[in-house]
Amino acid sequence: MSKKSLIVLSSPSGGGKTTLAKYLMSLYPEIKFSVSATTRDKRPGETNAVDYYFLSNEEFANKIKENELIEFEEIFGNFYGTMKSATQKAIQNDEKLIFDIDVLGAISIKKAFPEESLLIFISPPSLEILESRLRNRKTESEEQIQIRLSRAEMEMGLKDQFDYVIINEDLESSKSKIAEIVKK
Ligand code: 5GP
Repeated sequence: MSKKSLIVLSSPSGGGKTTLAKYLMSLYPEIKFSVSATTRDKRPGETNAVDYYFLSNEEFANKIKENELIEFEEIFGNFYGTMKSATQKAIQNDEKLIFDIDVLGAISIKKAFPEESLLIFISPPSLEILESRLRNRKTESEEQIQIRLSRAEMEMGLKDQFDYVIINEDLESSKSKIAEIVKK
């Protein structure tokens, strides 16, 4: 098993990182999910303090002010950030945390904890395929799809900063690749 405490999965929106994060946690129960803070609304099926800490804008601003976040980003009009205390605790206790965060956030985690982080970029096979995946999941409007695609282009340009890149063509082979990386 990887010695790194912080396993950071990133991909453009629709790239498949959430499925792979869940798969890794089912395979290795000792890996816990890093619960981020966000100002976005809770979606059906989501639970506070499990999926995210759902905060008001004011509460989020306070976390920034109190220096309680390692990093934060504004993504599609909402704020998302990684909690410092939980991350430091995991490192101190030699526990493993998995992060499902955006590409800029991942790079910030690596800067803050270069020795402890393992960065894995889940890449869609192409921007065209990403576009059709986003359309198929039917959770975004056309305008939102366009915004996500232009951000995806920027994110794809940063994948060289990651320790590993998995081209997510086929879910089963991506699952075995990521399991292999984490096992090393
Ligand atoms: P969603 O709203 O779909 O849950 O997440 C939108 C984007 O925010 C996803 O790319 C997700 O990985 C990213 N994200 C979630 N938590 C964090 C975080 O703490 N920091 C950063 N930088 N991105 C995050």
